[in-house]
Amino acid sequence: MENFNILVVDDIALNITAVEAALDGPGINLITALSGNEALGALLDNKIDLVLLDVQMPDMDGFEVAELMRAKEATRSIPIIFITAISKEQQYVFKGYSLGAVDYLFKPVDPDVLRCKVNVFTRLHRQQTIIEEKVGELETANKELALYADARDRQLQIKDRFLSHVSHELRTPLTAIHQFVTIILDGLAGDINSEQRRYLEIVLKNAGQLKHMIGDLLDITREVSGKLTVRATRIFIEEVVAETLQTLEKISAEKLISLSAQIPSTLPAVYADAARLRQILTNLIENGIKFTGEKGEITLRAGFFAEDPAFIFLQVSDTGCGIEPEDKEAIFQRLYQSESTIENSRSGLGLGLHICKTLVERQGGRIWLTSKVGRGSSFFFTLPIYSVEGLLRPILKESRARGGDLIVITLEARVPEAIKNNENIDDILTEVFLIITRCIHPYEDEDFIMPRSQRLPYGEVFSIIASTNHKGAEAIKKRVTEKLRRAKGLQDFRLEVCATHKMLEPCSAGKDMRLEDFVKNRAAEIEKIINNEMAERRACS
Ligand code: ADP
Repeated sequence: MENFNILVVDDIALNITAVEAALDGPGINLITALSGNEALGALLDNKIDLVLLDVQMPDMDGFEVAELMRAKEATRSIPIIFITAISKEQQYVFKGYSLGAVDYLFKPVDPDVLRCKVNVFTRLHRQQTIIEEKVGELETANKELALYADARDRQLQIKDRFLSHVSHELRTPLTAIHQFVTIILDGLAGDINSEQRRYLEIVLKNAGQLKHMIGDLLDITREVSGKLTVRATRIFIEEVVAETLQTLEKISAEKLISLSAQIPSTLPAVYADAARLRQILTNLIENGIKFTGEKGEITLRAGFFAEDPAFIFLQVSDTGCGIEPEDKEAIFQRLYQSESTIENSRSGLGLGLHICKTLVERQGGRIWLTSKVGRGSSFFFTLPIYSVEGLLRPILKESRARGGDLIVITLEARVPEAIKNNENIDDILTEVFLIITRCIHPYEDEDFIMPRSQRLPYGEVFSIIASTNHKGAEAIKKRVTEKLRRAKGLQDFRLEVCATHKMLEPCSAGKDMRLEDFVKNRAAEIEKIINNEMAERRACS
C-alpha cells in the first residue's frame, strides 16, 4: 500500500488534533508543525506529498509559507490546501490560488470532505512526480543520445575523410604501376619473352581491379558527403553501349563469354549522364562476367518501358550462378555480398551495385533484378526519355500557379579570339554551365537551366527558363553574369557574357486548360523561342 506524508500546519494544537482525527487511517503519515518556521523545517527533513496550511498564524502566515515554498525547487510543486477560519473574502481565496494552492477550505472542515480531497490531491501529486521523473529521465536519455549521435557523426566524418584521402593517395602509385607495366608490355623498354608478358598482363589486370575498387571507394565517400555528381544531358544510349562493350570485350573473351547487345535504333534520346551510364553498365557487365562460368552469355537489351512511357529500360542478362530470392533487395545495400557467391566476390568490395542504384536514382530511374538460381540473372534499370515537356513540367506547374509569366533567358558565353584554340575550352564552358546551374539552383522549381546543346564556333549559348516577370528576369541575369564575372576559374579567360530575355506570349486559356495541355502548349512555345535564338546566332557566326 502506498504511504503519503501529509504536513499539517496550524498554530492551534486543537485544530491539528481535529485534522489528525479526520485523516487517521492506514496509508497516511501525519507530520505536524505549529508555525511557519517549523513547517519549513519539516519540509526540509521529509518528503512531503501534501501540505494542509492554516492561513492565519503569528510571525509568518500561511501565504508567506506558500511563497517561500514556491521559491524553492524542492518544494515548488508540493500541493497546498489552505484552511482558514476568517480570510473568507474572495481576494484571499484568489491569493491562495495564485500562490499555487490546489484548494481553499473554510473551518470547520467536514472530515469526509477533507479525507476525500487529501486522497485525490496526494495521488495526483504522486503521479505528477512520477511523470516528471520520467520526463527528466527521457530528457537525460535524449541528451545522451544527441551526444552519442554527434560523436558518431564526427567519427563517420573522420572515417569518410580518411577513406577519401587514402583512396586518392592510392591512385597515384597505381597510375605509375599501370604506366610502367604498359611501357614494358609495349616493348619500349626492350624485348620480353612470352612468360614475362603473361605475368605482366596479370599485374596489369590486377592493377585494373584495384583501380576499380578505389574508384568505388571514392564514389562512396562522395555519396556520403553529397559530392557524387551526375550531369544529365541529352544522349543516345547506343553510343555509350557500344563504347562500354568495346572496353569489356577482352575480359569476357578470356572466359569465353559472349557479349552482345540489341539496342533498337528507334530509341529516343535520354536525359542522362553518359559517363555515369557507362559506369553503371560496366559494373553490371563485369558482375555478369564475374558470376558466369566459362562459355556463358551476357546480353544487353533496351526498349521502351511499358509501365511508364516517359522512360526506356536497359537490361543486362547473364547465364551465371543466379541470385537467391532473399538476396534480391539486399545486394543493392552498401557492402553486401551474397554468402553463396563469396568465393567469386573476393575481387570486389560489395559497393558496385549500391553505387549503380544511387546513380540510376539520381538520374530519375530505378533498378531491379530477376533471377533463377543456377540459370542466371537479369538486371534492369530505367532512364528518363529526353523531353522538353518532361524536363519543364515542374517549372510549368509552378508558373501556372503563379499566374503564368514565363521567361526564356539566353546567356551567350563568347570565347575571345586569343584562346579559341585552347584545348581546355570544353572544360571552361562546362565550368560556365555549372556556375549557372549552381546560381539558379536554390530556386529549383521556379528557374531551370536547359540541358546543354551543340556548341557554336565562338562559344556556347545557355537557356534558362524562369517562372517570373521582366523584373525577376533582370535580377536573374544580373546575378548570373556577376557570378560568372567573379568566378576564379574563369577570370583568366576573359569570356564575354551577354544575357537577353524574352517573355512568352501569355497563354489566353491558361487557367482553364488541363494541366497536361498547358504544359504541352508552354513547352512548345519555349522550344520555339530557344530554336529561334539558336538559329539567329548560328546565322551570325
Ligand atoms: P562486388 O564488388 O562484391 O561484386 P556488387 O555490389 O557489385 O559488389 O555486388 C554485390 C553482390 O551481389 C555480389 O558480391 C554478388 O554476391 C551479388 N551479385 C551481383 N551481381 C551478380 C550477378 N550478375 N550474378 C550473381 N550474383 C551477383
